[in-house]
Amino acid sequence: MLKPDPCPSSPITIIGGGLAGVEAAWQAARRGVRVRLYEMKPRRFSPAHQSPLLGELVCSNSLRAEALENAVGLLKEEMRRLGSLVMAAAQATRVPAGKALAVDREAFAAHLTGALEQEPLVEIIREEVTELDTRRTTIVATGPLSSAALAAALAQVTGSEHLHFYDAIAPIVAADSLDMSKVFRASRYGVGDDYLNCPFNEEEYAAFYEALMAAEQVPLKSFEEPRYFEGCLPLEVMAARGYLTLVYGPLKPVGLIDPHTGRQPFAVAQLRQENREGTLYNLVGFQTKLKYGEQERVFRLIPGLERAEFVRLGSIHRNTFIRSPGLLSSHLNFREYPRLFLAGQISGVEGYVESAAMGLLAGINAARQAGQKPLVAPPRPTALGALVGHLTNTATQDFQPMNVNFGLFPPLPERTPKKLRGAAHAARALAELEAWQKEMEE
Ligand SMILES: Cc1cc2nc3c(=O)[nH]c(=O)nc-3n(C[C@H](O)[C@H](O)[C@H](O)COP(=O)(O)OP(=O)(O)OC[C@H]3O[C@@H](n4cnc5c(N)ncnc54)[C@H](O)[C@@H]3O)c2cc1C
Repeated sequence: MLKPDPCPSSPITIIGGGLAGVEAAWQAARRGVRVRLYEMKPRRFSPAHQSPLLGELVCSNSLRAEALENAVGLLKEEMRRLGSLVMAAAQATRVPAGKALAVDREAFAAHLTGALEQEPLVEIIREEVTELDTRRTTIVATGPLSSAALAAALAQVTGSEHLHFYDAIAPIVAADSLDMSKVFRASRYGVGDDYLNCPFNEEEYAAFYEALMAAEQVPLKSFEEPRYFEGCLPLEVMAARGYLTLVYGPLKPVGLIDPHTGRQPFAVAQLRQENREGTLYNLVGFQTKLKYGEQERVFRLIPGLERAEFVRLGSIHRNTFIRSPGLLSSHLNFREYPRLFLAGQISGVEGYVESAAMGLLAGINAARQAGQKPLVAPPRPTALGALVGHLTNTATQDFQPMNVNFGLFPPLPERTPKKLRGAAHAARALAELEAWQKEMEE
């Protein structure tokens, strides 16, 4: 049972106006609760943020797969059904990206910022928060690059140390600087033509590989210990595993036929559209910690990129998160401090969509707490429930932030054929979600 709020008319506080923070603010306001949303930009920027807008995407412009048979596609559908602002913004600002949902990042962030600025129940305060008041309903959504003072305040409150490791940013090139006599447009297996493909023959790949291996990297700082996500490995780290590792990874040519030769190239670097106008493209899978000058030199060895204009180069960044299992409840508040909620990447999920999803849940529950209603947890078979299951799974040995995946869901009946498992997960999840939504409305 919750103690009554010491100041029931006070608004809830949300710290951080990223994907999780904007979604949380929207959800709380939709429930008639006043929100104070603190965002330190533009007074202070993390090493990866550049725009004063809320909901900035710091790296890829893709919110990943759309299909319901894919766990992240299902998560997006659940969010849509719960009235997600992030999903509405993505829909309004999408750019072509095959089977993925990609957005024009400027338009996306502008949509989110505009929606909250126009929401009378939301007050946006452009200040860094450096302390936490555990007596008031507060959502911490300061992300993987939380300011040092806030991370320290959080570590003090939770008693646990915050951990950090690395993510890496991929470079972006200007479309009009590409050599289109070499580059061809196609999606894998001929389903659409959303990607630009740079084909390597064997000698070109050998030269590229040699240069990549010899290129200078940004030295690590003394306190930095390299721990990468397998799904977001720097290109050079992956390449160091073997001469052909990239050909089986981000440079895989399968399903792509070069119309200039009529053959499948030895390797292919793919470029994904970055903005709505199609003037910018990012190098898919080219997250890197090479020095800037080295990136330009090495990546210009990619056929078609000889004269590429790099409008953004790759880089590496710290990533802060709390070891949530044991600390957080399935309502996303701390067991010891029930008024303090975590949302977004700092709660121990990974990815834009997952971060926004945890903001959505924290927003619902913070609003319910402010309104003296019992808190809610999504059913385990939903994608939302699967993520919460990860954050609260005390059996996990080495807890790491995780993307949503069907491995986190309760198992399906054994007789479900492998090919139909995605669809079966989706059907079960959406039925459970519907029942849960009805319960919440009662
Ligand atoms: C370099 C990098 C690249 C990434 N690339 C991808 C990717 O390509 N695809 C993907 O799906 N995920 C990616 N991620 C992971 C993650 O999904 C994103 O970081 C996502 O934006 C996290 O959402 P969030 O809301 O938790 O944090 P953020 O979106 O980072 O939002 C946090 C906000 O809090 C503000 N803030 C921080 N401290 C304070 C404070 N003390 N007071 C007030 N405001 C504060 C920040 O300015 C920021 O606006 C990446 C992460 C990093 C670090």
